[in-house]
Amino acid sequence: MQFKELPLHQKILKAVAEARFHKPTLVQRRAIPEILNKKNVIVSAQTGTGKTAAFALPIINLLFDKQDVEKDEKKIKALVITPTRELAIQILANFKSYSKYSNLRSTAVFGGVSLEPQKEILAKGVDILIATPGRLIDLHMQGNIDLSQLEIFVLDEADLMLDMGFINDIKKIEKHCPRKKQTLLFSATIPEKIDELAKTLLKNAVKVDINPEETTAKNIGQLLYYLPKKNKTDLCLHLLRNTINGKIIIFRRTKFGVDKLEQTLLKNGYTVASIHGDKSQGVRNKAIEDFKSKKASILIATDVAARGIDITNVDAIINFDIPNVPETYVHRIGRTGRAGKSGIAFSFCSPDENNYIKDIETLIEKPIKVIDEHPYPINKPKHTKKQSNTVSKHKKSRKSAASKKKKKRWY
Ligand code: AMP
Repeated sequence: MQFKELPLHQKILKAVAEARFHKPTLVQRRAIPEILNKKNVIVSAQTGTGKTAAFALPIINLLFDKQDVEKDEKKIKALVITPTRELAIQILANFKSYSKYSNLRSTAVFGGVSLEPQKEILAKGVDILIATPGRLIDLHMQGNIDLSQLEIFVLDEADLMLDMGFINDIKKIEKHCPRKKQTLLFSATIPEKIDELAKTLLKNAVKVDINPEETTAKNIGQLLYYLPKKNKTDLCLHLLRNTINGKIIIFRRTKFGVDKLEQTLLKNGYTVASIHGDKSQGVRNKAIEDFKSKKASILIATDVAARGIDITNVDAIINFDIPNVPETYVHRIGRTGRAGKSGIAFSFCSPDENNYIKDIETLIEKPIKVIDEHPYPINKPKHTKKQSNTVSKHKKSRKSAASKKKKKRWY
């Protein structure tokens, strides 16, 4: 299927062609027609699948014909709520790029920066607003945002918003929007709580499910190293010297772990950038820019800081710590192998993390290839996965994994 087969305005297709997108991705093929038909849609898709364009393109199209008639209108027509500032910036860049041949006005508001410039832009009138929940509520309470004429309401990365405790904020915001509107919910996974939220917010929704087997996992090599915890830094250095080249993202579970590894890699002469929740917005933006422009070849990150950030051409992922929530593993390795490119993910598992690997293998429904030949081997754990058990265990494991999620925020 070509983009021109989708009923999108010529000027949008022109912008898409300039973005060098040749064919719509799977999520785009499935979601765009439903959104254009003004349906409420629940999409489960990972980042990296092209999901931002899957909602941005039809939203621009739906608003396209109204733009000139209602040019002076100060009321927001489409609102995209997203959990992090980085995502807000990225989504805005997508909207700007695809709507460049329209008069639609878009902006992003998020915390951690001064309110005044955001208020000034809003005062001039905005059609499409991308926002993080806290700043959106602040600006709404101060009377800078009018949602009374909202036509399209989008929740992006809904599962992450839930994890970050934004659920009540979202419900609060939704109460200020008209009852009659189109609602779109995007989530990497649809755990029970998202399903409940969806039932209250989206009536008669169409479901579009792009599961990981069809997307991220397919073109990503996955390798597993069993080793003692104390040797993880040594193995990391060993692989960086001998095996892994190019742009690399290393995931660590804690902010402390990120800082510590950054110091070690810097001392060993690597160009490194890092992001986590304790760093200011300016520092995080600079780190991402440095990594994108190849000033830094390694980015070290916690999960929440990195989730959803669109960094293309990542050659390898290192799971320095194994995530305790199996879906996080899929999100992490989804940073590489994006938009059809191949990539490789290295996972370091110490004995205390063996159970996490079991949960991950259950989720991805296959064993990860174990590499025994490295300088710090230990015996593999006794569990051997039986493929036949995996599907029935699948749902159970998702639930148990979710209940294992830490209340305390380490990221
Ligand atoms: P997303 O899942 O929205 O974060 O998108 C992941 C990456 O895929 C981004 O760099 C997009 O610019 C890119 N992308 C989105 N749609 C397409 C497409 N149809 N063809 C090629 N790349 C795309």
